[in-house]
Amino acid sequence: MFLEPHFSGQRSGWLEVICGSMFSGKTEELIRRLKRARIAGQQVAVYKPSIDTRYAEESVVSHDSNSFVATPITQSAQLLEVGKEVTVIGLDEAQFFDRDVVQHTQELAHRGKRIIIAGLDMDFRGQPFGPMCDLLAVAEYITKVHAICSHCGNLATHSYRLSPSMDTVMLGERDQYEARCRKCFRMGNILDLR
Ligand code: ZN
Repeated sequence: MFLEPHFSGQRSGWLEVICGSMFSGKTEELIRRLKRARIAGQQVAVYKPSIDTRYAEESVVSHDSNSFVATPITQSAQLLEVGKEVTVIGLDEAQFFDRDVVQHTQELAHRGKRIIIAGLDMDFRGQPFGPMCDLLAVAEYITKVHAICSHCGNLATHSYRLSPSMDTVMLGERDQYEARCRKCFRMGNILDLR
């Protein structure tokens, strides 16, 4: 479990990234951290790319329906409009933000804000997803969470797509993807035929 650093008196902010495959609990971990900040009386703002419309427009929703209100934005530059009173900023589905999100979240950290970023580290081909690799490079804290492989029960790091679509931006539903370990991911649809 990630323990929040104690930075009493520190003037600059910092970046945290929570990454992993689908069904690994990224959003649940983001929500846990955001709730703890709110309980401590800190002002929290949450954003997600407007491309992610799987659930309610106005909320970050994890798979167990434990929700947190979020604002959909079309460009990461909109993050810079966040109010002075906000000290903690959450981003969900960060793999879908534009590349400038790296620069903009760092600017917010320079302003003293804590940025908590959740997103897929790899796409369905096993390649780094959007701006996530750059965010991981500049973050102070990284948490990689894992799912359980649907086939062998090992730790799963990959999101295997069950449908033949090659579109990278295909939003996740349980029946379109499954979490797999490295070995079962490489075996591909051989496993489907068993
Ligand atoms: Zn496996």
